[in-house]
Amino acid sequence: MLYSNLSVNEFGHLTIAGLDVASLVNEYGSPLMVLDEDRVREHCRVYVDAVKKYLPSGSKPLYAGKAFCFKALYSIIESEEMGADVVSPGELYVANAAGFPLEYVYFHGNNKTDEDIAFGIDVHIGRFVADNRDELISINRIAGEKGVKQRVLLRLSPGIDPHTHAKINTGRVDSKFGTAIETGQAMELLEFALSLENIDVEGFHCHIGSQIFESEPFSDAAEIMLKFAADAKDELGFITRYVNLGGGFGVRYIEDHPHIDIADNIKKLGECISTTCERFGITAPAILLEPGRSIIADACTTLYKIGSVKTITGYKSYVSIDGGMTDNPRYALYGSEYTVLNASKADKAPDFVCTIAGRCCESGDLIQEDVKIASPKRGDILAVLCTGAYNYSMASNYNRICRPAVIIVKDGKARVGIRRETFEDLIRYDM
Ligand SMILES: *Cc1c(COP(=O)(O)O)cnc(C)c1O
Repeated sequence: MLYSNLSVNEFGHLTIAGLDVASLVNEYGSPLMVLDEDRVREHCRVYVDAVKKYLPSGSKPLYAGKAFCFKALYSIIESEEMGADVVSPGELYVANAAGFPLEYVYFHGNNKTDEDIAFGIDVHIGRFVADNRDELISINRIAGEKGVKQRVLLRLSPGIDPHTHAKINTGRVDSKFGTAIETGQAMELLEFALSLENIDVEGFHCHIGSQIFESEPFSDAAEIMLKFAADAKDELGFITRYVNLGGGFGVRYIEDHPHIDIADNIKKLGECISTTCERFGITAPAILLEPGRSIIADACTTLYKIGSVKTITGYKSYVSIDGGMTDNPRYALYGSEYTVLNASKADKAPDFVCTIAGRCCESGDLIQEDVKIASPKRGDILAVLCTGAYNYSMASNYNRICRPAVIIVKDGKARVGIRRETFEDLIRYDM
């Protein structure tokens, strides 16, 4: 099996953390998302331990809540001593409702409204990651009205070349996020921020992209950010306390993806940071990392029931499931790869080539094309692995399809993390 928490029992059924998927679907219904708590905790610990060991003191990993955001998960993240980042007032609301310590929460986004800013300040959010000048002006004004001095980081774009690192495209100069270092505008923004009396600038943030398998792009970004910190010290006498390098470590969705040693990558990053700081003659700032996908993705499996198997003579076979783009839009959006298996026949060789189709009225509603699974029939359970990140958080009610339940499994037991949506939920806002 692709992940160590998955296995096959004597009935030929897939098991997740030792639990038979057929029993889970019997009890909790289908489609069902199954989150393995211990696997989430393992991933958190890799980050927390490596950050403690290899990065400057005061460094901390923050969970990027946009990957999967619900109350029970924040309690797990908190108990593993990670901070969190949010990209909207809704995510902040959820973290707050879960009782997450907001001191360790960072508020991102390229367009925070005045209401968002006021909300953040009212709940004593740790830091805003200010995207631009307009936002800084608002934060300064609202913080002034509320009589606080608000801590902020400035979001910068390091100008990492997407051609040398394919798939990385949020840290370019031409980006809707942040302010470019290369054009000189980042330094101007810092100078402006330092002139605002209700703002305490603590450092800088960048996020270069996602699903990155190499360590070099992170080291490149770190060097550019530290060079900027050194320039800021020379030009403005500014001392950088925090550099937040964002998220982006990749995960193995399929066998062909490489395995990433996160701890080793953080070690390399730590080495790069100390040599770079020495070279530029600055004290190493605390480093923040914001993993989302690599914390949560492979800890979750989505289970569906197969409804039909249809072979178009001379073309291909479609296997239809009782979910689809409403709970996992990633294939429809970006052609994302997934490992798919017939969980009712997990002991049988995958020999049937098919396209997995969702139940929406949309030809593009596919989960995967031309994959091999063990001969499927109506009633079998189909498992799609690695669905923890950007699945439920991107789910919709298109075709008025109810969102699935999310259960959390641990120590041989399951509990509901998010209850299944009901038809009543669908008309909750209808007047
Ligand atoms: C999306 C995002 C992350 C998380 O990225 P992953 O690839 O899921 O690790 C972290 N920080 C910011 C600012 C983001 O936008």
